[in-house]
Amino acid sequence: MSTRRPIVGGNWKMNTNLASAVELVEDVVAQCQTCTAGCDVALFPPFPYLNPVGAKLGHHAILLGAQDLYHEPNGAFTGEVSAEMLIDLDVEIVLVGHSERRHVIGEDDFLLNRKLHTALAAGLTGVLCIGETMVQREAGQTQQVTVDQLRAGLEQIRVEQMRQVVIAYEPVWAIGTGRTATPEDAQAVHAQIRTTLAGLYDEATAAVTRIQYGGSVKPSNAAALYQQPDIDGFLVGGASLKADQFLDIVRSTVGATA
Ligand code: PEP
Repeated sequence: MSTRRPIVGGNWKMNTNLASAVELVEDVVAQCQTCTAGCDVALFPPFPYLNPVGAKLGHHAILLGAQDLYHEPNGAFTGEVSAEMLIDLDVEIVLVGHSERRHVIGEDDFLLNRKLHTALAAGLTGVLCIGETMVQREAGQTQQVTVDQLRAGLEQIRVEQMRQVVIAYEPVWAIGTGRTATPEDAQAVHAQIRTTLAGLYDEATAAVTRIQYGGSVKPSNAAALYQQPDIDGFLVGGASLKADQFLDIVRSTVGATA
């Protein structure tokens, strides 16, 4: 089991509406009396609901997160949202390079590295998401793809900035499909990521950097995944839309008392 403080994020993607987003955050807050005592918990609602969701979080220790950001501070970038705008709304953590940004929207490693630099410079925690497709996995390229994405995403990120970085390993074939990597398969990739971090930075940095697993995580599979030594929490999509399921996943990292 991991010795690092776990971190679990709920990525609502392009789901909910104003009423259901508010209802969901209210449910999470009501059911999460002490769930942040042993675990960092973050919610990533759609941009339009950041403000109402943040208002419901109030002074609760749950972190308000954004699903994306743009790397420029302002200007003629129609539809984009800057780091400063997120900070205005009390956002503390942001996803960078979620597989749907990479594979549906078409964002590449170069752009994602610029976004991560921008997030960290603004004082946000950045969750750098990496992971292979099924075609890449079947071609035996999992290690190469994840290491390449990790190196490219962290290009010119300084060692002291790594305190603000979380890595999310999310095999693309497991996201929203109901298919989950086995704990052993996920652990093998997480261990490889940590070894790569040690090479890019140093052993101490690798030892403290948190690596989340994402891909059809549910209450029924979270505990077995969390038993692995290099899995430090989860990035949760579908199951985060139900407060009880999401908090069961949080509790799988901190025990049943949360
Ligand atoms: C995600 O959105 O990052 C994710 C892993 O989704 P799901 O849990 O639905 O597979």
